[in-house]
Parts: sequence; C-alpha cells; structure tokens
Amino acid sequence: MKEKTLGLESSVLTIKGVGKAREQILRSLGVYTLRDLFLYFPQRYEDRRRVSRILELQERKPALLAGTLTCVSLSKWGNASGGKIRSVLSAVIEDQGETLSVKVFNGGAMASRLSEGMRVSLFGRAERGKNGWEMINPEIRILDGNELPETGIFPVYPLASGLKQQTLRKMMKGLFEGETAKLLKETLPEDLRKRQELVGLREAIENLHFPMDEKAWKAGRKRIVFEELFQLQLKHRKARLQHAALRRAPIIRAGERTRAFLERGLPFRLTDGQRRALEEILEDLGNPVPMRRLLHGEVGSGKTAVALGAAMAAVESGLQVAFMVPTEVLARQHYQRTKGLFSAVGAKCWLLAGREASRERQRRLAQVEEGTCGMLFGTQALFQEKTAVKNLGLVIIDEQHRFGVSQKAALLGKGNSPHLLVMSATPIPRSLALTAYGELDLTRLNGTLPGRKPVRTYLIEKRQLKALFKRIREEVISGGQVLWVCPLLEETAQRKAVPVTERLKEIRNVLPDLPSGWIHGKMDPREKEEAVRDFEDGNLKILVSTTVVEVGIDLPGATLIVVENAECFGLSQLHQLRGRVGRGNREGVCVLLVPSKNESAVERLSIFLETNDGFALAEEDLRLRGPGALCGIRQHGLTEFRLADPLHDRVLLEKAREEAQRLQPEEELLDLSSWVCRGSGEGDSECPFLG
Ligand code: ADP
Ligand code: MG
Repeated sequence: MKEKTLGLESSVLTIKGVGKAREQILRSLGVYTLRDLFLYFPQRYEDRRRVSRILELQERKPALLAGTLTCVSLSKWGNASGGKIRSVLSAVIEDQGETLSVKVFNGGAMASRLSEGMRVSLFGRAERGKNGWEMINPEIRILDGNELPETGIFPVYPLASGLKQQTLRKMMKGLFEGETAKLLKETLPEDLRKRQELVGLREAIENLHFPMDEKAWKAGRKRIVFEELFQLQLKHRKARLQHAALRRAPIIRAGERTRAFLERGLPFRLTDGQRRALEEILEDLGNPVPMRRLLHGEVGSGKTAVALGAAMAAVESGLQVAFMVPTEVLARQHYQRTKGLFSAVGAKCWLLAGREASRERQRRLAQVEEGTCGMLFGTQALFQEKTAVKNLGLVIIDEQHRFGVSQKAALLGKGNSPHLLVMSATPIPRSLALTAYGELDLTRLNGTLPGRKPVRTYLIEKRQLKALFKRIREEVISGGQVLWVCPLLEETAQRKAVPVTERLKEIRNVLPDLPSGWIHGKMDPREKEEAVRDFEDGNLKILVSTTVVEVGIDLPGATLIVVENAECFGLSQLHQLRGRVGRGNREGVCVLLVPSKNESAVERLSIFLETNDGFALAEEDLRLRGPGALCGIRQHGLTEFRLADPLHDRVLLEKAREEAQRLQPEEELLDLSSWVCRGSGEGDSECPFLG
C-alpha cells in the first residue's frame, strides 16, 4: 500500500504512525489527504523560545521552566465500589533556590514516572498561590542528565478527542522531514513572487507550522494569504471570461420610447450622475454578453430612476424585466410608483409578492408566461414561483446585500441569459467588494440630487424627551412628517429597549391631535402598504416603526427621524435609517435617542454625528464590530479562507487582483480549487504570538 506513488492527494494513511483509528480522528477534523494535513494550520503558538527562571515569572503568563523535583506525591480518592479513582499529583520543583509547586489532576500515570531529584521541564501558566508560585496541569517532561528543555515556537492545533497536541505536532514535523515536503511544488510564477516579495510555497507552509520567529511567521502568512486571495481573483476572472464568451443575452436598445419616458415620464430631470450611470448600463445592454453590473450609490442617491431607465429600454426592446427587492413593503412601493409612470408610455407592470392566491394573480402569471413584455416586481417569491419567465431580458436586484448568492442564481436561471443589474447602498469598502463581487462590474452613482442638504444629526438623552415632543409638534405644524424607529416591536424580557407599541401609546398621549400610526414586520402586507400610503398622502404625520423602513423605502415627506435606543444599532444601519429623511426639498433632521449619554455610546456615535459619509461609517463599523456588522456579508463566502481576511489584508488583496489581471487567461498554471479553502476561517487575523 505505502509503496504507491505519493501525491498531495494521498491519504493520511501513507504517513508513518497513522493507522485506521487515527485516520478516523483526522477525518473528523476535515483532514483526509496529505494536502489537508499540510494546510491544517495552528490556531495559535506557544512561545517557548526562552527558559525562564522562577524569579522571572509573571502572573498568568505562559512560561517554560526547568528545575529539579524536590518532592512528589500522589493523593487518590474515590469510592470502594469501583468508581473512578481520582487523584492529584503534587510536586515541587526547585530552580536556583526558588521553588514552584505543581498540581496535576488525574496525574497518576505521570506520578509513576517521576521521582525526587529528577530534572524536568515545565510549560504552563504560573499563578501566585498562598505558598508562592504554582502551576496547575503544566506540561511536564523529564530531562535526561544535562539535557536542556526543548525550545522554540510550538504550534497549537485545534484537536479532536483521542488526538494529543504532541502527537499532531510530531506528525507535522514528520511531514517536513521526509520525502513528503517535496510534494509541495511551487504554484506561483517566479517573477510574480519576486514582485510581491513572497516566499516559496514550501517555506511558507513550514513557517506557518514551525516558525523560527515572528518574521518567519509573517512571511509565511503573507504568502498563503496572497495565494488564497489570488486564487479567488483568478476564479472571478475566469468566470468573467467564460461568461463573456457566452454572447447569448438579448440585445437591449433605448429608443424613442425610453427617451420619452426619461424626459417626460419621470417627475424630475435625471442628474448628470444618473445620466452617466445609465449610459454605462445601456452600453452593456446593447451587447450580447450578459451584463453583470453593480450600481452602487449612497442611500437616497436616486438609483431607482437609473434602473427604471434601463428597464424601460428592455421593455421597448420587447422583453420582460424582473425587479426583485428584499421586502414586500418595498416591492409594493416600487410597483405602485412605477405602474403609473410606465402606463403613461403604454408599458405594463405586475406585482408578484406575498401569498395572495387569487384569480388576479393567475391572470398576471399567465400574462408573464405568455411573454407579454413589461416589468414584474416582487420579493423572493419571484424565483420561488414555478413561472417560466419566457422573455426575461433584464433582472434588477435592489438592495443586493440582502440576497444570497443562490437566490440570485435561481432568478437568473429563469430566462436564457438575462442581463443583471444589482443595486446597493451598503457602503462596502472596496476590499470587500472585490472579494464578494469580484464577478461584477461596478458603476458608481455619484453626485447629489438637486436641492438636497445633508441631514443634521443630534444625540439626545431620554430625559430630554419632553423637549423632543415639543420639537416634533413644531415639525409637523410647519409641514413636516416624522418617522420614529424603535429596535423592537413588543416588550421582551431581555432587552431594555422601548418597543414600538409603547412608544406609539405615549406619542398618542402626548400629541393626541397629531395623527400617528405604526408599521412593523408582522403586519399584513396590505396593512403595511396602507400605512405607507397614509404617510405618503399626509394622513399620518407620525409613523412609529420597526426597522422595516430601513431598506429602500422612499418617504419623501419624512423630514425628521427619531431613532430610539440608537445604541442598539450599528453605524451602517443608522446611516440607512438616516437616509430615510431629507429626500424632499426640506432639510432633514435625525435624532438619536439614547437612555443616557454614557461614555461608550457617545464615543461610538460621535463619528455618526460628524459625518454623512456612508463609507467612512462602514469602515468604522467594521473596525468596531467586524465583517458581521455589514448585514448579509457572510453569505458572500468571505469567511471561507483559511487565513486571509479581506479586511485586514486589503493591501494584499489589491495586489492579488492586479496580478490576476496580468495573467493571460490561457495560462493554466494553477491548481485552483484546492487552495481556495472550504473550511470556515472564523479566526481572527491578529498575530497569534500576542496573547
Ligand atoms: P436610492 O438610491 O436610495 O434607491 P431613490 O431611488 O429611492 O434612492 O431616490 C430617492 C428620492 O429621490 C426619491 O424620492 C426619488 O424620487 C428622488 N429622485 C431621484 N432622482 C431624482 C432627481 N434627478 N431629481 C429629483 N429627485 C430625484
Ligand atoms: Mg433604493
């Protein structure tokens, strides 16, 4: 068996000392092959480079010691009826006149090998006990004669039961000593490695398992991180090239009808920024290569109008358009608004949202199936539907970060190869965009809409509530409307936040003459729609809401937004909420309401008070809360690296991208899939030597 030619794909059984039993344990760690084992990196390291003296010990800091045993004893206890005997080994070691006591629980086996006068090495954390320094359950090794303790940087691997740290270390060491290490053939071209100052593959992997020092570890990490990011960029690039070769998308041209729609059909004139963005999109659409484009613009920058321009061009070209949004409220709002605009130029719109099973719905579906051209609005229901959207030419996905990759794929699978336009206001830093959307072209919608002024933001405390109510009255009397967002709908036991129900009650008490209402996720879709319409029509002056209004909803009449318990929200989310006001011509006001201005809240929110820049806020959010802070971002496979962290490693990411662009597509030099990693790399990117 073991004679067979060895390859990275060979089973771990080919390693000396790995039999069936160990193989099973390794499997449970996701390690099947030699490659897996090479890539099974330590989660941290133990710095055992120095042998410390007892005098030098520091509370709770790991240390390596050597000394002589002056006293060893084992106390056992247990019940006579054969229950598990428990024991504790107590020992004292002495080094240069100082002593340290050691306790090892269930240390019977160890005790039988130890005797007074022996030299041993210890590794563990020392603590100051009643009688001086002590270590609980340190690693103990017997030293022969004048042998010195083994020093170095020791890897610490995640383990499974039945597998000891020592065993795994030995196994790893063995990998680099024998023939096996030669299996690690270089994957990156020499000139690339020179340019990017990357060490060889084998050296990198060895450095990660057994680093000489921090520098070596860093060099190893850099190389592997680069490799992971590079492979992903290559994959994106390959996908793009293959995709471009398809050339099967319907050609969409903006003609007279689209022009008329843009010039007379919209209630406003497109800004230069919107025009430029639309131009870019139309250029793609006139091409048989299916478009894959992300339209990125700040909250309230007017993305919808750009999308409608593209949609109209598709309809004019005799095609259907699917417009997918994450919430039903939003689907209904888009539908309601567009219906009128489209019918003015003789184009159809349908809404497919929620669970309404009606004849009307059947009729709509039938029309869609016949291939009648027009625009179909909906939520996820759009792709759950068994409908064949025959004539699908363009798919538009709004607030794209809310959807997973598979959902998008399902929708795209509906037509032949429709064009795809996704829109997002999530201010994703470039490094994340590159990783997550590497396969998309990017159009940025810049510039502000006419008459817009930045929203003014204030931070106030609960005890100023009375003044706030007064301010709200003034706002409404002077023609404004108020959104009041609470983190919760109803009271819950755990969280001390004011729920929507309670807030509405109080508002109605204090401001009985001002019409107020509410909206929340648990409402019937029609009720939601009604609430939105009442607010839009001005019948409601105050709308108390959960975060259902966060995504995309457009309420141009809203001039003041209160975010209750602002301390519960992330900065990006607050930014989305703030984006709900100041959409009309009046200056918007955003009030963050916190229980008290305690330091941490003020500190975190202060940047929000200072800037209206979504990108700056997102970066800050990421710094404070990690990538999970950006909703849905995990869905994009950003955590599927073993080592790379696109945020932390942005510089490398840019370089990896550059290098990927440089490669000729036919250069098939890499064994792609094997390095881009499957495991979940939840680990932090900090240097594991710290802590
Ligand atoms: P978002 O980019 O967040 O999706 P919307 O498309 O909802 O923003 O647009 C925000 C508001 O600005 C809407 O009320 C919309 O009607 C309005 N709007 C969009 N473009 C213009 C424009 N060129 N001039 C005036 N108002 C506009
Ligand atoms: Mg929008």
